[in-house]
Amino acid sequence: MNNYVDTYCPECDAEVHAHIRMQQAVLVVRGEDVVYNESIAVCPACGTIIGDARIEEANLDRAYDVYRSCHGIMSPDEIRNLRASYGLSLREFSRFLGFGEQTAYRYERGDLPDQTHGNTLRSASTISGARLLLSQNRRKLSDRSVGRIEQRIQAMEGGAAKEFEIRLTLEDREASSPSAVNGYRRLSLERVVALAFILAEKCKELYWTKFQKATFFVDMAYFDKTSQSLTGLTYAHATYGPVIDCKEEVRFILAERGVVDFIEYGYGEILTPLRCENMPFSDEELSFIDEMTQFVNTFGSATDLSDYSHKLSCWIGSNDGETIEYTRTDGEVTQAINDRLAAIH
Ligand SMILES: [Zn+2]
Repeated sequence: MNNYVDTYCPECDAEVHAHIRMQQAVLVVRGEDVVYNESIAVCPACGTIIGDARIEEANLDRAYDVYRSCHGIMSPDEIRNLRASYGLSLREFSRFLGFGEQTAYRYERGDLPDQTHGNTLRSASTISGARLLLSQNRRKLSDRSVGRIEQRIQAMEGGAAKEFEIRLTLEDREASSPSAVNGYRRLSLERVVALAFILAEKCKELYWTKFQKATFFVDMAYFDKTSQSLTGLTYAHATYGPVIDCKEEVRFILAERGVVDFIEYGYGEILTPLRCENMPFSDEELSFIDEMTQFVNTFGSATDLSDYSHKLSCWIGSNDGETIEYTRTDGEVTQAINDRLAAIH
């Protein structure tokens, strides 16, 4: 909302350009005191607080928002998104939930659901809740709606199964003994997400493929230097250069932890930094990563960096899908990085 509103002051009996101030207020919602920030319009001429329907409506919305978040009740936006995920009309959505015809409509418009309806809405976003609602209300629904709901439940089940598989794979990697496959370090997701954050922050146009080449160079060079990888990631040979062998799982974790965002850009997606709460690296490791980002930034495009990795004998000497063990770099990756930096400077 703007800081001013054009409104009518009954004291001055005139149109005024009123200043909007924020103040803490208490509203009783369903017998409960809700503390929220309300805005009030103050007449610039006489100082009277002016009642304005637009402002009062917004205040009510704010108080409701506070009440909703305290009670875990979905917001109108979340309810709209939930309905969209089922692809149902308002009427069919209301029937699916066992509400009256107009009820879902009112909630999407901002009315506050009572506790029972609030619980029903929440359960409709879970697999078991959706199944239960469908069995209770199936006969009120058209065949088409039943089909859509069943499809949505299947998709949720598929998603849950996939997520379970992803977590298992990662747990497995985290528990794997140090070896040439992980660079004598157990996979550390803390390190992977922190490295992704730094690379996203410092590297130009960090496409998803470029990201994987970058982590490959970082890990391998760090292994050359210390006989240990930086993250514990495992790399495999792919047609277009080395890739993280559990890349889907890594992508899932990066998105879930909110460290980077994936933005559609040009011919793919680029990683942009969001936030990183834990920084597990030492100063020495951080300055090493910094040098590596300088190396990555000597390449104009993801393809150039990819092409450069094709010169490495540890890539040439491996077959498609084969794991590139850390012991195969033997100083070569570091040499390639130094050559590149020397040629540029
Ligand atoms: Zn006035």
